[in-house]
Amino acid sequence: MSLSKQDTTCLQCGFGLWIPVDELSSSYMGLYSDARFPGRCIVTLNQHAEHLDELPPDTVSSFMLNVRVASMALRIATGSPRINVAILGNQEGHVHAHLIPRYPESEPRPNKAPWEDTRPRGSMSSADNERYVELIRRALKQVKVSEESRGRKVELRHVSSAEMEPPLLMLSQDAATDLLI
Ligand SMILES: [Zn+2]
Repeated sequence: MSLSKQDTTCLQCGFGLWIPVDELSSSYMGLYSDARFPGRCIVTLNQHAEHLDELPPDTVSSFMLNVRVASMALRIATGSPRINVAILGNQEGHVHAHLIPRYPESEPRPNKAPWEDTRPRGSMSSADNERYVELIRRALKQVKVSEESRGRKVELRHVSSAEMEPPLLMLSQDAATDLLI
């Protein structure tokens, strides 16, 4: 699939993703090119709302489940041991979450919030942008398949024990390494 920047742009406030990655059930996921935190992403709600607390509970639930899937995919795609999730809205009044892979071994202040990083801000190269978009798309596909399997497991609970063991999501370093090659 090919998601354009236009597809992700809110008609009401104009907030959109510069480098779209994929569409989720109630949001869009895009790369936020930041050389300090390769793979940094944004998940933005696919309808206009300024405050998370004004949304219907089902929408909040769906959005947060999308953030969960995005976070799993980022751990697979980047090999990062921890994804920071921040919903701020100080500059853009449209519900969105920042997902920031952390790399403690190479960061100057790994125990602090990403905003306290002392390195100069800069974008990744366009080749790296493309590489990360591809890695994240592949990881998302893997996570979505795993999530679907989990859904089938629930539906089939009383049908057949043979169908009770869907493939488990792998978040091991091996999986991350495979995808980085
Ligand atoms: Zn908006």
